[in-house]
Amino acid sequence: MRLVVVGAAGRMGRMLLRAIHDAPGCTLSAAVERPGSPHLGQDSGLLAGLPANGIPVTDDAAAAFAAADGVLDFTTPDATIAFAALAARTRIAHIVGTTGLEPSHLARLAEAARDTAIVRSGNMSLGVNLLAALVRKVAATLGTDWDIEIVEMHHRMKVDAPSGTAVLLGEAAAAGREVDLAQERVAVRDGQTGARVPGTIGFATLRGGTVVGEHKVIFAGAGERLELAHLAEDRGLFAQGAVKAALWGRGRAPGLYSMADVLGLDS
Ligand code: NAP
Repeated sequence: MRLVVVGAAGRMGRMLLRAIHDAPGCTLSAAVERPGSPHLGQDSGLLAGLPANGIPVTDDAAAAFAAADGVLDFTTPDATIAFAALAARTRIAHIVGTTGLEPSHLARLAEAARDTAIVRSGNMSLGVNLLAALVRKVAATLGTDWDIEIVEMHHRMKVDAPSGTAVLLGEAAAAGREVDLAQERVAVRDGQTGARVPGTIGFATLRGGTVVGEHKVIFAGAGERLELAHLAEDRGLFAQGAVKAALWGRGRAPGLYSMADVLGLDS
Protein backbone atom coordinates (compact mmCIF):
# COMPACT_ATOMS: atom_id res chain seq x y z
CA MET A 1 0.00 0.00 0.00
CA ARG A 2 1.45 3.38 -1.04
CA LEU A 3 1.16 5.87 1.81
CA VAL A 4 1.62 9.63 2.05
CA VAL A 5 2.57 11.22 5.38
CA VAL A 6 1.36 14.81 5.77
CA GLY A 7 3.00 16.89 8.50
CA ALA A 8 5.98 14.60 7.92
CA ALA A 9 8.44 16.73 9.92
CA GLY A 10 6.24 16.84 13.05
CA ARG A 11 6.72 14.72 16.19
CA MET A 12 4.13 12.20 14.93
CA GLY A 13 5.06 12.66 11.26
CA ARG A 14 8.57 11.30 11.88
CA MET A 15 7.12 8.37 13.84
CA LEU A 16 4.78 7.62 10.92
CA LEU A 17 7.73 7.59 8.49
CA ARG A 18 9.43 5.02 10.73
CA ALA A 19 6.28 2.92 11.17
CA ILE A 20 5.80 2.72 7.37
CA HIS A 21 9.47 1.74 6.97
CA ASP A 22 8.95 -1.14 9.44
CA ALA A 23 5.52 -2.31 8.21
CA PRO A 24 5.30 -5.18 5.73
CA GLY A 25 2.97 -4.38 2.84
CA CYS A 26 3.48 -0.59 3.02
CA THR A 27 5.71 1.80 1.14
CA LEU A 28 6.17 5.53 1.59
CA SER A 29 5.10 7.34 -1.58
CA ALA A 30 5.48 10.96 -0.40
CA ALA A 31 6.24 13.12 2.62
CA VAL A 32 4.33 16.41 2.69
CA GLU A 33 4.85 19.60 4.70
CA ARG A 34 3.18 23.00 4.41
CA PRO A 35 4.43 25.52 1.81
CA GLY A 36 7.32 27.52 3.28
CA SER A 37 8.38 24.77 5.69
CA PRO A 38 12.14 24.75 6.30
CA HIS A 39 12.04 20.97 5.76
CA LEU A 40 11.04 21.11 2.07
CA GLY A 41 13.58 19.24 -0.07
CA GLN A 42 15.07 17.30 2.86
CA ASP A 43 15.35 13.53 2.45
CA SER A 44 12.41 12.11 4.44
CA GLY A 45 14.34 8.98 5.47
CA LEU A 46 17.11 11.06 7.05
CA LEU A 47 14.47 13.33 8.64
CA ALA A 48 13.04 10.30 10.47
CA GLY A 49 16.46 9.00 11.55
CA LEU A 50 16.40 6.24 8.89
CA PRO A 51 18.73 5.62 5.95
CA ALA A 52 18.20 8.04 3.01
CA ASN A 53 15.20 6.95 0.90
CA GLY A 54 15.43 9.43 -2.02
CA ILE A 55 11.96 10.86 -1.21
CA PRO A 56 12.33 14.59 -0.52
CA VAL A 57 9.76 16.46 1.59
CA THR A 58 7.33 18.23 -0.77
CA ASP A 59 4.52 20.79 -0.47
CA ASP A 60 2.68 19.38 -3.52
CA ALA A 61 -0.06 17.47 -1.69
CA ALA A 62 -2.23 17.14 -4.83
CA ALA A 63 0.47 15.28 -6.79
CA ALA A 64 1.32 13.19 -3.71
CA PHE A 65 -2.30 12.10 -3.14
CA ALA A 66 -2.81 11.30 -6.85
CA ALA A 67 -0.04 8.68 -6.66
CA ALA A 68 -1.04 7.04 -3.34
CA ASP A 69 -3.54 4.61 -1.80
CA GLY A 70 -3.76 6.28 1.61
CA VAL A 71 -2.71 9.29 3.68
CA LEU A 72 -1.64 9.43 7.32
CA ASP A 73 -2.52 12.79 8.85
CA PHE A 74 -1.44 14.03 12.31
CA THR A 75 -1.37 17.78 11.66
CA THR A 76 -3.77 20.58 12.65
CA PRO A 77 -7.59 20.78 12.33
CA ASP A 78 -7.50 23.30 9.45
CA ALA A 79 -4.87 21.31 7.56
CA THR A 80 -6.82 18.09 8.14
CA ILE A 81 -10.04 19.38 6.55
CA ALA A 82 -8.10 20.59 3.51
CA PHE A 83 -6.44 17.16 3.22
CA ALA A 84 -9.84 15.45 3.67
CA ALA A 85 -11.24 17.30 0.64
CA LEU A 86 -8.20 16.27 -1.40
CA ALA A 87 -8.37 12.63 -0.22
CA ALA A 88 -12.07 12.58 -1.14
CA ARG A 89 -11.31 13.88 -4.65
CA THR A 90 -8.59 11.28 -5.20
CA ARG A 91 -10.60 8.52 -3.37
CA ILE A 92 -7.76 7.44 -1.09
CA ALA A 93 -8.14 6.29 2.53
CA HIS A 94 -7.59 9.14 4.99
CA ILE A 95 -6.31 8.27 8.47
CA VAL A 96 -6.83 11.21 10.83
CA GLY A 97 -5.00 11.36 14.15
CA THR A 98 -5.26 15.14 14.45
CA THR A 99 -7.04 16.26 17.64
CA GLY A 100 -8.80 19.47 18.67
CA LEU A 101 -11.36 19.28 15.84
CA GLU A 102 -14.39 21.54 16.40
CA PRO A 103 -17.93 20.64 15.22
CA SER A 104 -17.33 22.69 12.02
CA HIS A 105 -14.25 20.58 11.20
CA LEU A 106 -16.15 17.36 11.95
CA ALA A 107 -18.93 18.44 9.56
CA ARG A 108 -16.37 18.88 6.78
CA LEU A 109 -14.90 15.44 7.51
CA ALA A 110 -18.38 13.89 7.34
CA GLU A 111 -18.81 15.55 3.93
CA ALA A 112 -15.51 14.09 2.68
CA ALA A 113 -16.48 10.67 4.06
CA ARG A 114 -19.24 10.48 1.45
CA ASP A 115 -16.52 9.89 -1.16
CA THR A 116 -13.78 8.02 0.68
CA ALA A 117 -13.02 5.97 3.80
CA ILE A 118 -11.87 8.08 6.75
CA VAL A 119 -10.63 6.53 9.98
CA ARG A 120 -10.48 9.14 12.76
CA SER A 121 -9.46 8.56 16.34
CA GLY A 122 -8.16 10.78 19.12
CA ASN A 123 -5.96 7.83 20.02
CA MET A 124 -4.73 5.08 17.71
CA SER A 125 -3.43 2.69 20.39
CA LEU A 126 -4.98 -0.68 21.19
CA GLY A 127 -4.72 0.00 24.93
CA VAL A 128 -6.71 3.25 24.90
CA ASN A 129 -9.42 1.83 22.65
CA LEU A 130 -9.76 -1.15 24.99
CA LEU A 131 -9.88 1.29 27.91
CA ALA A 132 -12.69 3.21 26.17
CA ALA A 133 -14.70 -0.02 25.83
CA LEU A 134 -14.18 -0.72 29.57
CA VAL A 135 -15.13 2.85 30.53
CA ARG A 136 -18.34 2.56 28.56
CA LYS A 137 -19.25 -0.69 30.34
CA VAL A 138 -18.44 0.66 33.81
CA ALA A 139 -20.36 3.89 33.16
CA ALA A 140 -23.36 1.85 32.00
CA THR A 141 -23.20 -0.25 35.16
CA LEU A 142 -22.77 2.50 37.76
CA GLY A 143 -25.44 5.14 38.42
CA THR A 144 -24.98 8.90 38.48
CA ASP A 145 -24.24 8.68 42.23
CA TRP A 146 -20.75 7.75 40.96
CA ASP A 147 -18.97 10.91 39.71
CA ILE A 148 -16.82 10.56 36.59
CA GLU A 149 -13.60 12.59 36.32
CA ILE A 150 -10.97 12.25 33.57
CA VAL A 151 -7.41 13.35 34.33
CA GLU A 152 -4.77 13.64 31.61
CA MET A 153 -1.14 14.74 31.35
CA HIS A 154 0.86 15.54 28.21
CA HIS A 155 4.15 17.18 27.21
CA ARG A 156 4.54 20.95 27.38
CA MET A 157 4.27 21.46 23.58
CA LYS A 158 0.70 20.13 23.26
CA VAL A 159 -1.62 22.88 21.96
CA ASP A 160 -5.16 21.57 22.60
CA ALA A 161 -7.04 20.61 25.76
CA PRO A 162 -8.58 18.37 26.93
CA SER A 163 -6.61 15.86 24.85
CA GLY A 164 -8.32 13.98 22.01
CA THR A 165 -7.95 10.84 24.10
CA ALA A 166 -9.60 12.44 27.14
CA VAL A 167 -12.52 13.48 24.90
CA LEU A 168 -12.68 9.95 23.42
CA LEU A 169 -12.86 8.52 26.97
CA GLY A 170 -15.47 11.13 27.95
CA GLU A 171 -17.55 10.14 24.93
CA ALA A 172 -17.27 6.47 25.96
CA ALA A 173 -18.48 7.34 29.49
CA ALA A 174 -21.33 9.44 28.07
CA ALA A 175 -22.32 6.62 25.69
CA GLY A 176 -22.39 4.19 28.64
CA ARG A 177 -24.73 6.55 30.49
CA GLU A 178 -26.72 7.27 27.32
CA VAL A 179 -26.18 11.03 27.62
CA ASP A 180 -24.64 13.64 25.33
CA LEU A 181 -21.10 14.59 26.39
CA ALA A 182 -21.60 18.16 25.14
CA GLN A 183 -24.39 18.62 27.74
CA GLU A 184 -22.52 17.01 30.66
CA ARG A 185 -18.92 18.08 30.08
CA VAL A 186 -17.13 20.30 32.62
CA ALA A 187 -13.68 21.05 31.22
CA VAL A 188 -12.68 24.05 33.39
CA ARG A 189 -13.12 24.80 37.11
CA ASP A 190 -11.85 27.99 38.70
CA GLY A 191 -13.00 30.14 41.64
CA GLN A 192 -16.40 29.74 43.34
CA THR A 193 -17.69 26.83 41.27
CA GLY A 194 -20.38 25.63 43.68
CA ALA A 195 -20.89 21.94 44.42
CA ARG A 196 -20.42 19.35 41.70
CA VAL A 197 -23.53 18.93 39.54
CA PRO A 198 -24.61 15.25 39.60
CA GLY A 199 -24.20 13.46 36.28
CA THR A 200 -21.54 15.79 34.89
CA ILE A 201 -18.31 14.41 33.43
CA GLY A 202 -15.27 16.42 34.55
CA PHE A 203 -11.89 16.89 32.87
CA ALA A 204 -8.57 17.96 34.43
CA THR A 205 -5.62 18.84 32.22
CA LEU A 206 -1.93 18.73 33.23
CA ARG A 207 0.88 19.90 30.91
CA GLY A 208 4.62 19.56 31.41
CA GLY A 209 7.93 18.04 30.38
CA THR A 210 8.00 15.33 27.74
CA VAL A 211 5.08 13.12 28.86
CA VAL A 212 3.81 11.16 25.82
CA GLY A 213 0.27 10.75 27.21
CA GLU A 214 -1.30 9.62 30.50
CA HIS A 215 -5.05 9.23 31.13
CA LYS A 216 -7.01 8.17 34.17
CA VAL A 217 -10.78 7.78 34.39
CA ILE A 218 -11.99 8.00 37.99
CA PHE A 219 -15.39 6.72 39.09
CA ALA A 220 -15.86 8.26 42.56
CA GLY A 221 -18.66 6.84 44.66
CA ALA A 222 -19.62 7.31 48.31
CA GLY A 223 -16.75 5.73 50.26
CA GLU A 224 -15.07 3.97 47.34
CA ARG A 225 -13.35 4.80 44.06
CA LEU A 226 -12.64 2.89 40.87
CA GLU A 227 -9.78 4.10 38.64
CA LEU A 228 -8.92 2.93 35.11
CA ALA A 229 -5.71 4.25 33.55
CA HIS A 230 -3.51 4.11 30.46
CA LEU A 231 0.11 5.25 30.21
CA ALA A 232 1.64 5.71 26.74
CA GLU A 233 5.42 5.32 26.87
CA ASP A 234 6.25 5.69 23.18
CA ARG A 235 4.63 7.69 20.31
CA GLY A 236 5.54 4.78 18.02
CA LEU A 237 2.42 2.91 19.12
CA PHE A 238 0.13 5.66 17.74
CA ALA A 239 2.00 5.50 14.43
CA GLN A 240 1.76 1.71 14.26
CA GLY A 241 -1.99 2.02 14.94
CA ALA A 242 -2.32 4.54 12.10
CA VAL A 243 -0.56 2.20 9.65
CA LYS A 244 -2.85 -0.65 10.77
CA ALA A 245 -5.87 1.64 10.15
CA ALA A 246 -4.60 2.48 6.65
CA LEU A 247 -4.23 -1.20 5.72
CA TRP A 248 -7.74 -1.84 7.09
CA GLY A 249 -9.17 1.19 5.25
CA ARG A 250 -7.77 0.32 1.83
CA GLY A 251 -10.62 -0.35 -0.59
CA ARG A 252 -13.20 0.09 2.22
CA ALA A 253 -16.58 1.66 1.33
CA PRO A 254 -16.74 5.44 1.87
CA GLY A 255 -17.64 6.36 5.45
CA LEU A 256 -16.40 7.62 8.76
CA TYR A 257 -14.79 4.87 10.83
CA SER A 258 -13.16 4.69 14.27
CA MET A 259 -10.20 2.78 15.67
CA ALA A 260 -12.73 0.56 17.45
CA ASP A 261 -13.91 -0.52 13.96
CA VAL A 262 -10.32 -1.22 12.90
CA LEU A 263 -9.59 -3.22 16.04
CA GLY A 264 -12.93 -5.02 15.99
CA LEU A 265 -13.86 -3.70 19.45
CA ASP A 266 -17.40 -3.25 20.63
CA SER A 267 -17.15 0.48 21.44
P1 NAP B 1 3.62 18.70 15.59
O1 NAP B 1 4.96 18.19 16.03
O2 NAP B 1 3.33 20.16 15.69
O3 NAP B 1 3.41 18.22 14.07
C1 NAP B 1 2.42 18.71 13.19
C2 NAP B 1 3.07 18.85 11.82
O4 NAP B 1 2.07 19.19 10.86
C3 NAP B 1 4.13 19.97 11.80
O5 NAP B 1 5.28 19.50 11.13
C4 NAP B 1 3.42 21.06 11.03
O6 NAP B 1 4.31 21.93 10.33
C5 NAP B 1 2.62 20.23 10.04
N1 NAP B 1 1.58 20.98 9.35
C6 NAP B 1 0.76 21.94 9.86
N2 NAP B 1 -0.05 22.42 8.87
C7 NAP B 1 0.29 21.75 7.74
C8 NAP B 1 -0.17 21.80 6.39
N3 NAP B 1 -1.16 22.64 6.02
N4 NAP B 1 0.41 21.00 5.47
C9 NAP B 1 1.38 20.13 5.82
N5 NAP B 1 1.87 20.04 7.09
C10 NAP B 1 1.33 20.83 8.04
O7 NAP B 1 2.46 17.95 16.41
P2 NAP B 1 2.40 16.42 16.86
O8 NAP B 1 2.80 16.30 18.28
O9 NAP B 1 3.05 15.54 15.83
O10 NAP B 1 0.82 16.21 16.86
C11 NAP B 1 0.06 16.39 15.69
C12 NAP B 1 -1.41 16.09 15.98
O11 NAP B 1 -1.57 14.69 16.27
C13 NAP B 1 -1.96 16.83 17.20
O12 NAP B 1 -3.31 17.19 16.94
C14 NAP B 1 -1.89 15.78 18.30
O13 NAP B 1 -2.79 16.00 19.37
C15 NAP B 1 -2.25 14.55 17.52
N6 NAP B 1 -1.87 13.25 18.12
C16 NAP B 1 -2.78 12.25 17.95
C17 NAP B 1 -2.49 10.98 18.41
C18 NAP B 1 -3.48 9.87 18.14
O14 NAP B 1 -3.20 8.70 18.47
N7 NAP B 1 -4.62 10.17 17.52
C19 NAP B 1 -1.27 10.73 19.06
C20 NAP B 1 -0.36 11.78 19.19
C21 NAP B 1 -0.67 13.04 18.71
P3 NAP B 1 4.75 23.34 11.01
O15 NAP B 1 5.33 22.99 12.36
O16 NAP B 1 5.73 23.86 10.05
O17 NAP B 1 3.49 24.15 11.10
